[in-house]
Amino acid sequence: MKSYRMYVRGEWIEAKSKAKREIFDPGNGELLATVPESGREDVIEAVKAAREAFDNGPWRNTTALDRGKFLFKISELIKRESKKLAELEVKNCGKPLAEAEFDAADAANCFEFYGGLATKIHGETMSVPANSMSFVIREPLGVCGQIIPWNYPLLMSAWKLAPALAAGCTVILKPSELTPLTALELAALIHEAGLPPGVVNIISGPGAGAGEELASNKLCDKVAFTGGTATGRKILEGASTNLKKVTLELGGKNPNIVFADCDLEAAIDGALFAAFANQGEVCSAGSRLLVEKSIHKAMVDGMLSKINRIKLGHGLTPGVKMGPLVSKAHLEKVQNYIQIGIQEGAKLLWGGQRPEGSEFTKGNFLMPTIFDNVTPKMRIAKEEIFGPVLSVIPFSTEEEAIQIANDTDYGLAAGVWSKNIFQAMRVIRQIRAGITWINTYHPTFNEMPWGGYKQSGWGRELGFHGIEGYLETKQININLDEAPINWY
Ligand code: NDP
Repeated sequence: MKSYRMYVRGEWIEAKSKAKREIFDPGNGELLATVPESGREDVIEAVKAAREAFDNGPWRNTTALDRGKFLFKISELIKRESKKLAELEVKNCGKPLAEAEFDAADAANCFEFYGGLATKIHGETMSVPANSMSFVIREPLGVCGQIIPWNYPLLMSAWKLAPALAAGCTVILKPSELTPLTALELAALIHEAGLPPGVVNIISGPGAGAGEELASNKLCDKVAFTGGTATGRKILEGASTNLKKVTLELGGKNPNIVFADCDLEAAIDGALFAAFANQGEVCSAGSRLLVEKSIHKAMVDGMLSKINRIKLGHGLTPGVKMGPLVSKAHLEKVQNYIQIGIQEGAKLLWGGQRPEGSEFTKGNFLMPTIFDNVTPKMRIAKEEIFGPVLSVIPFSTEEEAIQIANDTDYGLAAGVWSKNIFQAMRVIRQIRAGITWINTYHPTFNEMPWGGYKQSGWGRELGFHGIEGYLETKQININLDEAPINWY
C-alpha cells in the first residue's frame, strides 16, 4: 500500500494537520493507498506557491515554444506510464480497463494538442487612424484553481492542466477526495518533466474545506470546476469574493433520440453504449432514450437481447464491460432512484438490483437498469442519476421528440439516430445542448469544444475554445504623433 504526498512548490508534502485519508478499491473494498487530507490552510499554502510562481517565476515569460515542449514531454511521460496509470484508474474509480486505457491515451493526446496550440496564441490589429497603432495581445490569466470530479480523474486533470499551462498560467488542481491517485501520479510526471516549482500544485482533500477555499481564495484569478450543478452554484458563491473568472462543466440529463428510419442495429448498440459506458457515471450519458412509437418494441427487444453482453466485474478482470460504482454512498443514491422509478410507475424492464454472486459482494456493483414507459415528468426522467439507469420515453412525432428533449434544466449533450439526414440535422439544430451526435454517441475529440447550454455549465473546455478560458485580452494603443494633443 502506497502512502502518497501532495505536490506543492515542487515538493512532496503532508497536510499541515498530518491528517490522512484512506483510498479504497470500489470493486473489492481493498485499501489501496493513503493520501494527505488537506484543509483550508494547505490550500492557502498551495495558492501562495502558485501566486509566487506566476508573479515572480519564469513560467509566464517562458516562450510559447518552450511551454509547448514541456507539454509534449508530459504527454510522452503519460504514454510511458499509461499501463500503470490505467490500472490505477481502474482500481481507484472502478471503470473497466479498456476504458481506462482509452482515458490515459486521451490524456496524453490532450497535452500534445495543447503543446502545439501554445505557439498558436496570437493577437490582432484593426484599422485605426493613421496617427495611431492599436493592437491586441493575449496574456496568461494568472493563478487558476481547478476542481475535478471522480469519474475521469486522469482525463479531467489533463483537460484542466494542459490548456492552463499552454496559456502560461499557474495552477492548483484538486481531484475528488474519492479518486486522487492518478492525479498525484501525474504530479510526479510533471515534476519529472521539469516544470518550475509552483507552476503546478496538486492537492488531495475534500470539497468541504479544501475545495471551498480554492473557489473563494482571493489570490486565485480563476476557478475552473467540473462537477455537479448544485456544487457549481456553491463555486459561484465562493468565486464572488474577488469576482474571479469562472468556468463550469456541470451535469446533464441527455436525450438520445431514435427515429423509426434509423439503422436499428446501430441504434440499439449505440443506446446501450450511451447509457452504460463507465457505469453510466458520465455527465454526457444518454440517460433519456426517446424512441419513436412505431419501433418502440423492436428497440426495447433489441436492447434486452444484447444487455447480457455487458459483463459486470472488477475492471481488471478480462472481458468486463461494467465495473462497480465509485462508492457505497453513490450506489445507495442510484438504488434510491431505482425505487423512485418503481414508485412513479415506470416499468422496470431489466436490472434494478445488485448482481448475484460472491465476486460481487465486496464491490459497489449494480446491474445495468432499464425503465420503460417513462414519462417526461417523472423524477427519473428529470434528475441526473449518474449511474447505469436508462429511461425509455416513447414519442409520436418529431415535434414531440424535440419538446421532450428540451424539457430539462440541463443542456449538455444529445444524440439523434436517423438515416434521414434532413430530419437528423433539423432536430439537432433545435436541441439546446453543447455536444451532439448523429448516428453515434460519445466520441469526442480534444480538438473540439466541450461544454453545455443552460444549467450544464459556463464556458467551454478543449479545442481552441478551451485555451480562451485561460487568457486575458489586452489592448495596446500607440500614439504616432509626437506633438501634444492640446485638448486643454
Ligand atoms: P461534485 O460536484 O460533488 O464534486 C466535484 C468536485 O467538487 C470534487 O472535487 C469535490 O470534492 C468538489 N467539491 C464538492 N463540494 C465542493 C464545494 N462546496 N466547494 C468546492 N469544491 C467542492 O461532483 P461529483 O464528484 O459527484 O461528480 C459528479 C458530477 O460531475 C455529475 O453531476 C456530473 O454530471 C458532473 N460532471 C460533469 C462533467 C462535464 O464535463 N460537464 C464531466 C464529469 C462530471 P470531493 O469529491 O472531494 O468532495
